[in-house]
Amino acid sequence: MRRGDILTIYTEATMRNLKNKIAIITGSTSGIGLGVARSLAEAGADVVLNGFGDAAEIEKIRESIAKEFGVKCTYSNADMTKPDEIKAIVEGAGAVDILVNNAGIQHVDLIENFPPEKWDAIIAINQSSAFHSTKYAVAGMKKRGYGRIINIASAHGLVASAQKSAYVAAKHAVVGLTKVTALETAGQGVTCNAICPGWVLTDLVKAQIEKRAKENGTSFDEEKIKLVGEKHPDKEFVQVEEIGALTVFLCGDMAKSITGTHISIDGGWTAQ
Ligand code: NAD
Repeated sequence: MRRGDILTIYTEATMRNLKNKIAIITGSTSGIGLGVARSLAEAGADVVLNGFGDAAEIEKIRESIAKEFGVKCTYSNADMTKPDEIKAIVEGAGAVDILVNNAGIQHVDLIENFPPEKWDAIIAINQSSAFHSTKYAVAGMKKRGYGRIINIASAHGLVASAQKSAYVAAKHAVVGLTKVTALETAGQGVTCNAICPGWVLTDLVKAQIEKRAKENGTSFDEEKIKLVGEKHPDKEFVQVEEIGALTVFLCGDMAKSITGTHISIDGGWTAQ
C-alpha cells in the first residue's frame, strides 16, 4: 500500500468517526444549527433536522445533506415550545447518541417595554426545550454508555447586554443546566458542554442589524461592521463551520474528559 493510500484511509477513518451515530440538532433549518448538522453529517453521523421554514426549501436541504455526505437525514417539524413534541422527536429518532440543543429566537427591547409573551417564548425555546430534550435523551445515552449533549448557549450565557433580558437569562440558565447534566452523567460515557458563540451572521443577527440600521438611519453594512466591532476584539463574525468543527471534536473520544464546561468561540468578546 502506498503512503498516499494510507493517508486517505487514515483521513477517512478520523473524518468519519461518527458513522452510525444518530444526532438530533434542534433548530437546524438555518444558521448555526444547519452548519452543525452539516459538520456532523460530514463526520458520518445520521442527522435529524428540525426547525421551521418553507417545506420545499427544507426538503432540498434534507436531500442535499443525505446525498452529499451519504448519511441518513430526516426532518421533524417539532415545535420546541411543546414538551410533547420534543418527546416525540427524541423518541422518534431511535437511539440518540448526540443531542445538539440549538433552537433559539431573540427579542431586543428594554425590560419596561419587553412583551411578556416574548419573554415566555424565549424562555420556552432557548431554555426549557434543552431541559425537555435532555430529559428524554439522557437515560438511553447512559444505558448505552455513550452520549454527547451540546448546548448552543452564547457569549450571553456568560455576560450580558442591555435590552436582551430574556435571552441573557435563558442562556445563563442553559450554562447552568449544562453543569448539572454533566454531574448527573459523569463516568457513564456521556458528556455535556455548552458552546458559547459570539456574533455569527445568521437570520437571528441579520434581524438585529436591520433594526439598528432603521433606528440609526444607517445602512445594513455600516451597522454590521459597528455591531461586530463593539463586542469582538478581532472584528470578525464567527463562521458556522467553526462551531460545527468544535461540535464534531466534542463528540469524539479525544473530548471524553471535557464535560460540564463552556467553550467560547467569540473572537475574544468575553476575554475583556
Ligand atoms: P437562526 O434564526 O438562523 O436559526 C434558528 C433556528 O431555530 C431555525 O432553524 C428556526 O426555524 C428554529 N426555531 C425557531 N423557533 C423554533 C421552535 N419553536 N421550534 C423549533 N425550532 C425553532 O439563528 P441562529 O443564529 O443560527 O441561532 C441558533 C442558536 O445559536 C440560537 O440558540 C442562538 O441563540 C444561538 N446563538 C446565535 C448567535 C449568533 O450570533 N447568531 C450567537 C450565539 C448563540
